[in-house]
Amino acid sequence: MSAELPPWPERLPLRTTDAHTHAGSVREYSGLTEADALAAAAAVNVTRLVEVGTDVASSRAAIALAEAYPQVIAAVAIHPNDAARLGASLPTALAELESLLGSSDRIRGVGETGLDYFRTTDDQGRRLQREAFAAHIAWATQYDLALVIHDRDAHADVLDVLAAEGSPSRVQLHCFSGDADFARACLDRGYYLSFPGTVTFKANEALREALDLTPDDRLLVETDAPYLTPMPFRGKPNSSYLLPHTLRFIADRRGADLAELCRQVADNASALFGEWGSDG
Ligand SMILES: [Zn+2]
Ligand SMILES: [Zn+2]
Repeated sequence: MSAELPPWPERLPLRTTDAHTHAGSVREYSGLTEADALAAAAAVNVTRLVEVGTDVASSRAAIALAEAYPQVIAAVAIHPNDAARLGASLPTALAELESLLGSSDRIRGVGETGLDYFRTTDDQGRRLQREAFAAHIAWATQYDLALVIHDRDAHADVLDVLAAEGSPSRVQLHCFSGDADFARACLDRGYYLSFPGTVTFKANEALREALDLTPDDRLLVETDAPYLTPMPFRGKPNSSYLLPHTLRFIADRRGADLAELCRQVADNASALFGEWGSDG
């Protein structure tokens, strides 16, 4: 491992699951290959992960990784910020993405898709995001896959689009960033809330209030590596082996037994995405 990588945390007492990561992007930040990232994660008992594509190329790579490793399943998508950037090429990209669906039983999720009003501020870009989001929602239902939602500064509109298009049966709010009220709105609709390392940041008390009211059977934990590294390593490159910091923080906050939390979030990931096929 490169010198700037945080040290390995203490091994978790039970095997668990990173519900959203980009192992294929970790290398440029940390020098860890996908195989290194998987081995490092397994060493601390993070034995399963969801590898998430954000464009056609990274979606193909996610499928290849999931076919090579039983501890990996794939989610495929055109990310909302990519949808906005693609402009007139968006329909072609969506058609290519759709051609991947059904190509492998290792594809278990459609996403990350959704709306990002933080990075995309123009009306035309936001229209393209909505168009892409609607297409992904339809595929999740058609192919019976989990819908993996990216929502940045767009909470109300994300729920509006889901209501207009019709919610698929299994929905994950990846990198949940709302407060208690938005959490309640999502939980009322039966969605899973997936908490990343940001829940450990001092300023994010509203996010912790959302965590407090999330029932055990709707809770997921993720790294979203290579971004959002948990405390005390905020700002360093993230990777799935750092998930234990977030899990320990959440166990403390909820007054939960750490082993029980590891088991619960892994069970929830299975309910959302299906079985991995490895015993991790
Ligand atoms: Zn995201
Ligand atoms: Zn992501």
